Amino acid sequence: MAEGIPRELLMNTALINELVEVAKDTAVLQGFLVRIKESPNSTEEVTHAPITLFPTPVPKALFLQAIAVQTHYNTLVDKISQDPEFLQEALGSTIAVDDFTARLFKIHQQVLKRGRLQSIVLGLNRSDYMLDQEDGPSSLKQIEINTFAAASGGLASRMPDVHRHILKVAGRLEESQRIIDNNPAVGLAKAVAKAWELYGSKRNIASIRKYFEDVSESGKLDEDKRLFIDYQEVAVIYFRNGYSPQNYKSEKAWEARLMMECSLAVKCPDISTHLAGTKKVQQVLAEPGVLERFFPDQPQVVDQVRATFAGLYTLDMGEEGDKTVAMALATPDRFVLKPQREGGGNNIYGQDICELLGKVKNSAERMAYILMDKIQPVPTQNYLLRRGKPHKICNCITELGFFGAYVRQGKDMVMNNCVGYLLKTKSSEHPDGGVFAGVAVLDTALLF
Ligand code: ADP
Ligand code: MG
Repeated sequence: MAEGIPRELLMNTALINELVEVAKDTAVLQGFLVRIKESPNSTEEVTHAPITLFPTPVPKALFLQAIAVQTHYNTLVDKISQDPEFLQEALGSTIAVDDFTARLFKIHQQVLKRGRLQSIVLGLNRSDYMLDQEDGPSSLKQIEINTFAAASGGLASRMPDVHRHILKVAGRLEESQRIIDNNPAVGLAKAVAKAWELYGSKRNIASIRKYFEDVSESGKLDEDKRLFIDYQEVAVIYFRNGYSPQNYKSEKAWEARLMMECSLAVKCPDISTHLAGTKKVQQVLAEPGVLERFFPDQPQVVDQVRATFAGLYTLDMGEEGDKTVAMALATPDRFVLKPQREGGGNNIYGQDICELLGKVKNSAERMAYILMDKIQPVPTQNYLLRRGKPHKICNCITELGFFGAYVRQGKDMVMNNCVGYLLKTKSSEHPDGGVFAGVAVLDTALLF
């Protein structure tokens, strides 16, 4: 059994041209659509979701490893969110220099001061990995965990049928059967529904979408801190944005966030779970003894989680941080420099690392960043199908994300699952950038 798509198929131009049309057509017929850049708010102008023509081979053992570790990641994120001392220690240096993280941290402190009212917690996250093959066999290495607006679960749910169909048209029945079902949307929705049910709502689930500014205008807390928007009580808040400074266009937006955090509604994520997903926390977790704090009697769990860590290094002021600077300046191509930002396109690579560290290495400004080993996956060949771009074969890098969903009520984990995966593939020319930055496209795993 071949691992992936045979080269003679990849190079068969006539067949590829036909398959590209089949792929786009199938995506459109199945309602696998995205809005377009020129009219991002239009529901009339849409196009097929950006996809790879073929699935990407992924070793089954690593795929299963990621599924198995996901419930521990859920637990870890949840435990961090309940440990104010840890968050204070871990983020102390960051908030001294990074205004955005400092502002989020202030909300977290305000919530703690007033006392947390809601004992129901809903966590929907996505842990992203690459398969590192720098030395020896490939291993699963975490890029980061997204605890805020972990996207594309809905799109990922539609991918398997598209790839199965392309493979069948290409006469590759055996490969088409190796594409497993994947429906993160259902698993994520079940967790939201569970949180809603525990909140004790009586009516059917209705959902509304609001900007922070709308919430600031039409949202109110009653004397029991129940949140009402346009006179409707809100049981669960899912934050679609709020992870980047640009999402807070005014002071009103910040006030709305604070009001929601102080309400009885279940927040996904709540402010402390949001902070648990910062890159600085990720770096601190990799320090010796830190995972043990969260899994005190579970050495196997500690090993399982730690096995997925890449090298992560502090840039705090002091000896350790100085070592990190020296190492990065000596071999910048081995690392990625990351600020405390989300959403893609923020990371710094190669010579730019030297330039930046050259400027900030002796000042506290450097504490706004962490340094990470650059993961070196072996590229695969595929065609990336994106509206308006001619398809041509290219060397691709793939990133695997696994969706975690959990619901806790007080001390009880009522639900704790891995609910599916997301495969994103991009040309190896691009060091960074997601699906909506116009760089990566959706993909599925061809397990072997
Ligand atoms: P963001 O929160 O902005 O999405 P990420 O940490 O996920 O930031 O990085 C964005 C992209 O940069 C990733 O999707 C990946 O392509 C690339 N990247 C990040 N960290 C590494 C790394 N350690 N090695 C190789 N590539 C990385
Ligand atoms: Mg990310």
